[in-house]
Amino acid sequence: MADTIFGKIIRGDIPARIVHDDDRCLAFHDVAPQAPVHVLVIPKQPIPSLAATTADDRELLGHLVLVATNLARSLGLSDGYRLVVNCGPDGGQSVDHLHVHLLGGRRLGWPPG
Ligand code: 5GP
Repeated sequence: MADTIFGKIIRGDIPARIVHDDDRCLAFHDVAPQAPVHVLVIPKQPIPSLAATTADDRELLGHLVLVATNLARSLGLSDGYRLVVNCGPDGGQSVDHLHVHLLGGRRLGWPPG
């Protein structure tokens, strides 16, 4: 797949405010936060989107969600939070590297736009 801005962040070519780093994923603050806490959790493996995942990615997908959940706890989101995965043009995905948004710190509206 084509390199993306997230590939550059994984390689350390561009800076990010990293809050979690392990052998499978990286998490960092979004550059344009939509809530007081807005963190992105991304796999180090360059999977373009949720639509490109298969049953082989089951463990990795679970890991991304658990990392986001642990971050919600450590970042103090005790009143709740939202995990979002935008997929494809209709889903509003703008970076073609799978990522989970962790949003919290304010009351979030529903339905989303
Ligand atoms: P999407 O719209 O694909 O679901 O989410 C992409 C997210 O990546 C957006 O919230 C956007 O603000 C964030 N983003 C784009 N470029 C950068 C960057 O260079 N650094 C960081 N930290 N976030 C970025």
